[in-house]
Amino acid sequence: MKGKRSLETRLIHGTYDRERHHGSLTPPIYQTSTFSFASAEQGEARFAGDESGYIYSRLGNPTVDILEKAIADLENAEAGAAFSSGMAAVSSVLLALVRSGDHILVSEGVYGCTYGFLEMARDRYNIDYDLIDMSDEETVRKGIRENTKAVYVETPINPTMKLIDLDMVIRVAKEKGVTVVVDNTFCSPYLQQPLDLGADVVIHSATKYICGHGDVIAGLAAGKAEFIQEMKMTTLKDMGGVMAPFDAWLLLRGLKTLSVRMDRHCRNAEFLFHKLKEHPEVSSVVYPGDPSSSQYELASRQMRQPGGLITFEVRGGKEEAQKVLNRLKMAQVAVSLGDAETLIQHPASMTHAVVPKEKRMTMGITEGMLRLSAGLENPQDIWEDLAQALKQQ
Ligand SMILES: *Cc1c(COP(=O)(O)O)cnc(C)c1O
Repeated sequence: MKGKRSLETRLIHGTYDRERHHGSLTPPIYQTSTFSFASAEQGEARFAGDESGYIYSRLGNPTVDILEKAIADLENAEAGAAFSSGMAAVSSVLLALVRSGDHILVSEGVYGCTYGFLEMARDRYNIDYDLIDMSDEETVRKGIRENTKAVYVETPINPTMKLIDLDMVIRVAKEKGVTVVVDNTFCSPYLQQPLDLGADVVIHSATKYICGHGDVIAGLAAGKAEFIQEMKMTTLKDMGGVMAPFDAWLLLRGLKTLSVRMDRHCRNAEFLFHKLKEHPEVSSVVYPGDPSSSQYELASRQMRQPGGLITFEVRGGKEEAQKVLNRLKMAQVAVSLGDAETLIQHPASMTHAVVPKEKRMTMGITEGMLRLSAGLENPQDIWEDLAQALKQQ
């Protein structure tokens, strides 16, 4: 957007107005459940919407508001919303977009609990969905039905790191007037900005890169003011997955270092990619920054940098993959991603264990596959740890 400062600067100075808070350098934490009214009439006016102001923290809290404004600014959106988890964001956004009898078109390989939510919505609430491979334009076009109310995309896809061409999907959806929702968790606003490409709503599990320190479960969404307001007054307010003020404060703190952390995550991932690619015990490596990959051009066009995640396959299948994890001395065996610590997990038995084996195979999730979230440690130290774990004993 023209006239705005660069993203790196906005991450730090953002939209927080210090003058309204006694010049406090960092935002205050309004650790309160409710707000006193000066009079009965003021209470009436606030409930009637005739006077702006806070009522009760599930309906709005000043610290949470500062974060909501920050994510809207960073995603170049009109408005933002904060949630108690990434899944609260996913479910609240989708349920605000559809009614019983509607359909959602979803990219194959979405986050496991998003898939779980869609299954539940279909079985219990008559909201249909299809999972499709969104790499082909015609498949996307054919997938949109009369009753399709949303196209839901995640890119890169976990754990196979396949990318979806957002430009193409958004263009096809717009032809049919369908809302596009992008789960931007793996990129953070620093690496990819779907709203600038024409998407309508962007979602983050802020638990990951936005927090960056492994100490909060939280979600964010951003989009048009009308939609965000409607969602806040319906699915967010009434299902109640709101963010706590202290969590908002931790995320505002995390945002300040997002660009610095992302640069380092990305640099470490690139370093590890080259090392892993040469290692004899590693049969394949997938990483959006691989210049020999067919998706390299798309990655360069769509993402500012290739990200901090790498997926690789060790020779010897599940047994060997588990041995590698057990030999690690520094990297932590854990799901989640985007933390200061390098985290590594085995998708077939952890994040994707619920997916039947045959389905996992067609999705390209093999038994020897490991997914690594490059931390912020010295890259040589991460590599030494990985190399000693990979070495055949
Ligand atoms: C973790 C994650 C979620 C869910 O977020 P929570 O904060 O764990 O509820 C959704 N989408 C993606 C891509 C994720 O990685």
